[in-house]
Amino acid sequence: MKLDAKALRYMSSDEFRVLTAVEMGSKNHEVVPTSLIAQIAQLRTGGSHKIVGDLAKTKLIARVQNSSYDGYRLTYGGYDYLALKTFAKRGTVYSVGNQIGVGKESDIYLVADEEDNQHVLKLQRLGRMSFRTIKSKRDYLQNRKSASWMYMSRLAAMKEFAFMKVLHENGFPVPEPIDYSRHCVVMELIDAFPLRQVDEVGNPGKLYSELMNMIVKLAQYGLIHGDFNEFNILIRSNGEPVLIDFPQMVSTSHINAEYYFDRDVDCIRTFFRRRFGYESVLYPKFKLDVNREFSLDVQVAASGFTKKMQKELEQVSLGKQI
Ligand code: ADP
Ligand code: MG
Repeated sequence: MKLDAKALRYMSSDEFRVLTAVEMGSKNHEVVPTSLIAQIAQLRTGGSHKIVGDLAKTKLIARVQNSSYDGYRLTYGGYDYLALKTFAKRGTVYSVGNQIGVGKESDIYLVADEEDNQHVLKLQRLGRMSFRTIKSKRDYLQNRKSASWMYMSRLAAMKEFAFMKVLHENGFPVPEPIDYSRHCVVMELIDAFPLRQVDEVGNPGKLYSELMNMIVKLAQYGLIHGDFNEFNILIRSNGEPVLIDFPQMVSTSHINAEYYFDRDVDCIRTFFRRRFGYESVLYPKFKLDVNREFSLDVQVAASGFTKKMQKELEQVSLGKQI
């Protein structure tokens, strides 16, 4: 899924109205009926008809023929467009540059604001890999099937922003969160390479301890990263690690907290053994080494990313990792 930044510049205000109407309509409708789109956009039915057709041609929306009625749904392209438009209005994203990463469930782009400061834009693409998992979760899906990718991606971005914010405010080495909208987060660009690409470090023992201390400190603050591995740790040229990628974080009060904590520790031990031939008898254990002193998990819930949202997201994102 390529991000089409050029389309941003060429949209009439009526087209934007109609696109926004499709987004609004999808809150209650998996497929938004054409008549409802016209009604929300408040354009003459004939007028909105043509625009709906144009938007479908540029793939910002897609026509769906339902058993009971015909209508349209938003595509990732349309959702990207709406998020970028919001960032542009707030001045956080002015231009979109190269794609710098394709994650399992995200696309990462370099972007710049009006003063030409470079940042990173992360677009969640839930559903790319886990769609089958999502489909099998009937209990939470209920009547919304294919619309769920949008909701789940929005939850993932919201969660990532909320966690990045509390971690950053509490002095953890993470990118500074700058803005979010829908399924997208804008954050500080870290000038570093993923640990995965680092073949040699001056002192593996030192980096190993730093990373283990980070895992323990996170847990002291009530949090477990949940995907603490060589892809999500960036190493600056001075050797300092920076942690990224937070949509799967869990609280240390989670029922499987010990499992996630020990798995994070294990990832680092395995990587250091294989890559640097470094092994230590010292490594943290959830039962012995975690003394919770602060509750950032509670702070995150208070920021608007509620426990219920956390649960909904866990059903898809943690389910597939086990
Ligand atoms: P995913 O959830 O898809 O794994 P990540 O957040 O881990 O996405 O990002 C994927 C890749 O993009 C990272 O491995 C890293 O190379 C790059 N990246 C992500 N965020 C940043 C950032 N703030 N600064 C620099 N590079 C980044
Ligand atoms: Mg990652």
